[in-house]
Amino acid sequence: MTELYDLHCHSTASDGALSPTEVVQRAHQQGVTSLALTDHDTTAGIAEAQLCAATIGIKLIAGIELSTNWQNRCFHIVGLGVDPTYAPLATATHNLQSTRLERAEKIALKLEKKRIPGALEAVKKAAGDGMITRSHFADFLLSQNHVSTQQEAFDRYLAKGKPAYVSTSWAELELAINWITESGGVAVLAHPLRYKLTANWMNRLLTAFKDVGGLGIEVITSRINADEIRRVTDYAKRFDLAGSMGSDFHNSTNPWVELGRLAPLPKNIKPVWELLG
Ligand code: AMP
Ligand code: MN
Ligand code: MN
Ligand code: MN
Repeated sequence: MTELYDLHCHSTASDGALSPTEVVQRAHQQGVTSLALTDHDTTAGIAEAQLCAATIGIKLIAGIELSTNWQNRCFHIVGLGVDPTYAPLATATHNLQSTRLERAEKIALKLEKKRIPGALEAVKKAAGDGMITRSHFADFLLSQNHVSTQQEAFDRYLAKGKPAYVSTSWAELELAINWITESGGVAVLAHPLRYKLTANWMNRLLTAFKDVGGLGIEVITSRINADEIRRVTDYAKRFDLAGSMGSDFHNSTNPWVELGRLAPLPKNIKPVWELLG
């Protein structure tokens, strides 16, 4: 059987549309043989995903996508092969749930000032026990016809510099990487091209990332083109980072972002799964 890795996706434990069970089932249908569930700042979906994966015979890697700060900017770090029961990580995710709730309260207040009431109740209801994210606010704005797409919700309200943006203190990069590493996991820089860094800043980020124990970089993401793959491959090689691949699947609305729908990892890069125990 051909191995197919998808090491980045979301469930209802954060801003995904499918339950952990449904994500695992869909991944299996798409031919994925190893799946990492990497919800934002939580491992709450892992146990359920693990159970389903064992039943249908796909390998489930316990993962997380941590929101981190470095140089006053936000970077997403995927942890692969983490131990959700490792106390410092469990405590951190517990605290991050409060951080996210407090941020949601502030976002809702800012929306109220723009004469958009009711956001907090709506996002709390939509997130349920899961992490509240800006995606939930985008869905709310869409459902109330304040915008006509999710993207427009970010562009007009939720993105940095927009009226409902709330700057948040996430974990410092080094601390977040320590939680991942000390729980037995591998830290991977998520979607490196999405931060729109200059080459100089990318070099500084990757130097800092390596310094504090980062081991991998997402080389293959959904919708990445050949030129972008070359650029990230070059960074992976220069900084001696293992290459990861992940769809960042959230829901089935975009046919170009699908579980397992990924270009192959370039042959000249060390695959991150060789680092997983
Ligand atoms: P949060 O971690 O709560 O700030 O939410 C971040 C999530 O919002 C990301 O993981 C994406 O799913 C989504 N997101 C962020 N920026 C955008 C954007 N410009 N357009 C659409 N979705 C976005
Ligand atoms: Mn998301
Ligand atoms: Mn991300
Ligand atoms: Mn993600």
